[in-house]
Amino acid sequence: MRKKKTNHAVFSFVWPGTLCCFHCGDTYKVSLPCSLEIAHAITKAFGKEHKGCKESERGRGLRKEHESDYEKYKKKEEGKDDPVSDQTSG
Ligand SMILES: [Zn+2]
Repeated sequence: MRKKKTNHAVFSFVWPGTLCCFHCGDTYKVSLPCSLEIAHAITKAFGKEHKGCKESERGRGLRKEHESDYEKYKKKEEGKDDPVSDQTSG
């Protein structure tokens, strides 16, 4: 089985404008409003940084706090085909 690196970083709907990593529990506050392009770039960069991060207690706490968000995130990871297809470049 191929081991793929997953992206743990998602935009929190609980804390507007905050990026969360459901793995290590790190957060990053984005100053809003910002353009979608900026938001996308930040999400991408944050996700890249967290590709190899270590799971921690903090991450588990974060997942609990964002339970419904995390469900969506998990579904996305499992299904992989988004109805709203995002152009993957690179
Ligand atoms: Zn992380």
